Amino acid sequence: MSWVLERARAEIRALTPYSHAAWEPSLTRLHANELPWRVEGDPSQAGLNRYPEPQPPPLVQGLARLYGVKNEQLLVGRGSDEAIDLLLRVFCRAGQDNVIICPPTFGMYAVAARIQGAQLRTVPLRADAGFALDVEAVLAAVDDNTRLVFVCSPNNPTANAIAPDLLADLARKLAPRALLVVDEAYIDFAGVPSLCAQLGELPNLAILKTLSKAHGLAGARVGALIAAPEVIALARKVIPPYAITELTVETVTPLLQPAAIAAMQERVRVLLQERARLAAALAATPGILRVWPSDANFLLFDCADPDDVLARVRGAGLIIRDVRQPVLPRLLRFSVGTAADNDRVLESLQ
Ligand SMILES: *Cc1c(COP(=O)(O)O)cnc(C)c1O
Repeated sequence: MSWVLERARAEIRALTPYSHAAWEPSLTRLHANELPWRVEGDPSQAGLNRYPEPQPPPLVQGLARLYGVKNEQLLVGRGSDEAIDLLLRVFCRAGQDNVIICPPTFGMYAVAARIQGAQLRTVPLRADAGFALDVEAVLAAVDDNTRLVFVCSPNNPTANAIAPDLLADLARKLAPRALLVVDEAYIDFAGVPSLCAQLGELPNLAILKTLSKAHGLAGARVGALIAAPEVIALARKVIPPYAITELTVETVTPLLQPAAIAAMQERVRVLLQERARLAAALAATPGILRVWPSDANFLLFDCADPDDVLARVRGAGLIIRDVRQPVLPRLLRFSVGTAADNDRVLESLQ
């Protein structure tokens, strides 16, 4: 058994997954206790009276092609939130194992860890060095019970990407103890390559992908876990068999075709122009002390009076995010909107 597999919970390795109804489209389905008739108003091709195919191949294939990985290296889930939860449940024994997170970062890693009863170890990003990852401190925090190290790049909420070489090196140094989980939710907005190309050499690398940000499909709830086939096989045992709805499969599959991806990239290009315009305008706004560099579709800024800024923006009918931290007591975040939305934010601060 590989060391990565050995780090998974023994119960999950031994688990016999739920045996779902066989998928044999050439036969009339009388084996899944479904109703034989479609209901009025059912907009689907396949019929919503039928259970969808588990790990729907059109979505798995479309996502694997998009990310340049093999089908067996990818699991499709309800957003990357589901992938985070699956990793915790596959790898962490409640009350025994721990995971490392690097705050300030995405809140779901800590929530999923607490739900599973995994201990949380925090190794803060270095606010004095542009929120750099403190690799030495991460390695120092690892012990025999460390199973997962979560790194978000570009990071939410600090907006900076971490160099892929540094992450690949960290993955190597975490062997043979922990998996490195790299959350690439915002990578399409950054000028750095995905780590997917290095998956073959790094058996303990797991990558989180989502269609919720650059692809504009947050409401569809589609994300992916990308990892070694043996890790994916364990996650497939744990995910509910019919997690992805037929409506999702039929709506999202065409949006992974080359023309739709080209349109997505064009929207990203426009958004990046708007991000640059907004960052410059914000930096010149009274009361804004600092606009942090962004590799994502949001901007982070320090302001003299955060409560006043929040109130003014809300008064203009918009909402932005309060991400104040003890070490960064003046920090707010907002998503780059349309040019008109962004102008309203800027005007509210004048
Ligand atoms: C928005 C976001 C996601 C996306 O989560 P989904 O469940 O796929 O919608 C993942 N990671 C980070 C860091 C995010 O900010």
